[in-house]
Amino acid sequence: MRLEGIHHVTAITGNAPANVAFYTGVLGLRLVAKSVNQDDPTVYHLFYSDEVGSAGADITFFEYPGAPPGRAGGGMVHRVVWRVASPAAIDFWEDRLSALDDAHVIRAGDALQFSDPEGLRHELVVSDRDGTLSARHPEIPAEHALRGFDGVRMYTLRPDHSARMLVELMGAAELGDGVFELRGERRGGTIAFDPVPEKRGLQGGGTVHHVALGTTAEQHPEWERWLRASGVQTSGIVDRHYFHSIYYREPGGILYEIADDAPGFTVDGTVEELGTKIILPPWYEPQREQIEAQLTPLPDPRAGWASA
Ligand code: ZN
Repeated sequence: MRLEGIHHVTAITGNAPANVAFYTGVLGLRLVAKSVNQDDPTVYHLFYSDEVGSAGADITFFEYPGAPPGRAGGGMVHRVVWRVASPAAIDFWEDRLSALDDAHVIRAGDALQFSDPEGLRHELVVSDRDGTLSARHPEIPAEHALRGFDGVRMYTLRPDHSARMLVELMGAAELGDGVFELRGERRGGTIAFDPVPEKRGLQGGGTVHHVALGTTAEQHPEWERWLRASGVQTSGIVDRHYFHSIYYREPGGILYEIADDAPGFTVDGTVEELGTKIILPPWYEPQREQIEAQLTPLPDPRAGWASA
């Protein structure tokens, strides 16, 4: 039983239109689902990924309209690491992101760090592992596109306990320097620990809410049994419409999720239709008109592509 690295990362945005503009228009990801918060249908849950909505490339955002930017601190993920194919891709992204006012771009060798408009830090690294989970975008040559997650970096409040859970319960391999790898048959990814900053974390725009680790639909229920048998308090198995989830907090404060990939984003329609329609849980469907009227209007990120 193995976890397959990062399945998705879920963060918070206070500005959904700017969020869509950045993740689709700048980073070139595809908006694969425009759903609503299951507990509050007046706000979005936005999903960006590769062209077909693969696990391993999926960053999602809960919308809290007007939420001020937060700050990553102890018990939080502070950086999302993505793969690109080559040093030439790093050059491409350095040029593209440096043209923005607030991206705070830092180049270190063949790695590039930058921020989204609300301060969420990202990093690009060169890696050809696990295939290509890319979306297409008219301004981004296919060979330079983001290819899915390499991992996340986090601030754990109890590094020894966090490491022990990763290795002993979650099957991670310790690579050294606070880096751990979770690798299954299909793919893998890393979790890295960094020293906790002095200032306390503040959940807000541009901060990560949780990180999900991937597994197969067959093994998913086994993980729930294993975690419980090991004394971990979990949420039980939750149906998240696109996949199934188990949530639990690790000893250093970070909220983990284990997610499978069934049925996937095409449960709502064809690959072509991904992200074009607001998806409501079935129990909200009768109120669609009122709910859509309350949601922040969002442009279709691919409008005008055909003529471009
Ligand atoms: Zn999640």
